[in-house]
Amino acid sequence: MRSLRSAVPASTVLTVVAGGVAWTATEYGLHRFAMHTLRGRGLASREHLTHHADVTYFSPASKKALSAVATTIAVLPVATMVAGRRRAVEFTAGMIGTYLGYEVAHRRIHTHAPRSAYGRWARRSHLHHHFGAPMRNHGVTTNVWDRLFGSYDDPGVVTVPRRMAPVWLLDEHGAVRADFADDYVVRGSADRSGVQVEADRTDAFANAAPAV
Ligand SMILES: [Zn+2]
Ligand SMILES: [Zn+2]
Repeated sequence: MRSLRSAVPASTVLTVVAGGVAWTATEYGLHRFAMHTLRGRGLASREHLTHHADVTYFSPASKKALSAVATTIAVLPVATMVAGRRRAVEFTAGMIGTYLGYEVAHRRIHTHAPRSAYGRWARRSHLHHHFGAPMRNHGVTTNVWDRLFGSYDDPGVVTVPRRMAPVWLLDEHGAVRADFADDYVVRGSADRSGVQVEADRTDAFANAAPAV
């Protein structure tokens, strides 16, 4: 039986990994410019800033599938011209695969407690982006591009408005779980009245952190 090593050439692995790295740069660029800088102009920006106004809102799977298809349509012909059909398919597969991984990781940041040092970092960094500084820490899966382009903040202790606190952060009495007490403080009320919903939407579309 052929081993996996001989079945998959190193050049294929490298091309798939290059596609994955290209996705992380795309993730940074789209999040910073197409979503935040545009302040609600265009579907991607509107959907994303709606997620900032209400952190339980995630774009439906149909819109995500659409963006995966759009990415393929944009990347595949260019990559084919540069590197030929086979490399282009490998590169695009690495990019789309990493994009899907990012979608899962982003949702889990909001819905599930961390299980590793990386998971802890990813949550602190992304929740700092949400609640502290929406124009910082645009990379969700890595901080490499933020560091390169000067938009990285060390999250420090993240202050979370109680009405937006992820369920995994709080115990049954509404206090920050002991495990996370060094990383987060929760402030304000849990109430989301109509006035608050409006204010959160206004702040999100202005790239301002939500009031606590
Ligand atoms: Zn988010
Ligand atoms: Zn954002």
